[in-house]
Amino acid sequence: MFQNSSRTELSTLGEFGLIKHLTEHIQIHNESTVKGVGDDAAVIEYKNKVALLSTDMLAEGIHFDLTYMPLKHLGYKAIASNVSDICAMNGTCKQVTVSIALSNRFSVEAAEELYSGMLLACNNYKVDLVGGDTTSSLSGLIISIAALGEAEKGEVVYRNGAKEKDLLVVTGDLGGAYMGLQILEREKAVFKENPNLQPDLEGNDYILERQLKPEARIDIAAILKEKGIKPTSMIDISDGLASEILHLCTQSEVGCNLFEEKIPIDGLTASRAHEFKMDPTICALSGGEDYELLFTIPQSDYDKVKGHPDFTVIGHITDKASGVNMVTRSGSSVTLTAQGWDAFLKK
Ligand code: ADP
Ligand code: MG
Repeated sequence: MFQNSSRTELSTLGEFGLIKHLTEHIQIHNESTVKGVGDDAAVIEYKNKVALLSTDMLAEGIHFDLTYMPLKHLGYKAIASNVSDICAMNGTCKQVTVSIALSNRFSVEAAEELYSGMLLACNNYKVDLVGGDTTSSLSGLIISIAALGEAEKGEVVYRNGAKEKDLLVVTGDLGGAYMGLQILEREKAVFKENPNLQPDLEGNDYILERQLKPEARIDIAAILKEKGIKPTSMIDISDGLASEILHLCTQSEVGCNLFEEKIPIDGLTASRAHEFKMDPTICALSGGEDYELLFTIPQSDYDKVKGHPDFTVIGHITDKASGVNMVTRSGSSVTLTAQGWDAFLKK
């Protein structure tokens, strides 16, 4: 899997050598980073803003599969998914720490590949990598990232603020990362059968990119601000639309009507879903890792999002007793579950 032809054992550098090697090209982008890598703790100064802190752990074999996930992409995606959590609070990510556990299966070059993806993401998102921890593991790779961000006190948006009659809005399109994964899984199965066959990934660029190099929506906070919109609630879509809607509704103690025909799905996602005999709606509802943002706004803000290419209104908030439902294309109402919807209820 590792493209580098040479292989340097981790033991040749040792822990401190490896840390120095991986962190020597880090660039600092933010004034709030007073001290980054190199001391016992990083020093951050946010002045009058509030700090947002989020952390995530990724384990090989559970969250990623290195047979089709290149290490550079994994590094990029690990940073992007953490930055996305800060975006979901309507904040701006400024610093991350990266802790890794590596088994001796990994070489120095493999660690370099991982860091090149992480540093590329940090540069794209203007985020400073200010520290971390490095240790060995008996098997596999574990990555733990903490993301630190800032927001003005009054700007933070929580999951629990959705109100009856609010509009439910989503950014971008959904289900693409899941269909990208299906393509990669298919080619992995073909490769296992016959290692001489080249993977057939042609014509799938968009959905492969959605899976392998997803982007955090760092642009949305600024668009909302410019339009004078403060969402009443917000969450990022890491586990699938259905699961995230349920989180918003549960925490806000409301119900919701989602309209199936409004869910934004890219044409390539839909046509590949049909080829795989899957329902594109299920891919959007249950497939994860799109890293788009889902939020609610008061009805009076409708004109501000109407026709905007980044936003789609997909439903509205109801009272709690009405439940969390999807109105299907045929006009029937089905109860949403974290897996999508209860197939037995679909008429
Ligand atoms: P300590 O023994 O105090 O934990 P370390 O030797 O682990 O210190 O780390 C030294 C410095 O290198 C610290 O600033 C730490 O944040 C940073 N660091 C360690 N591992 C990593 C890593 N994988 N990525 C980025 N920075 C790291
Ligand atoms: Mg340490």
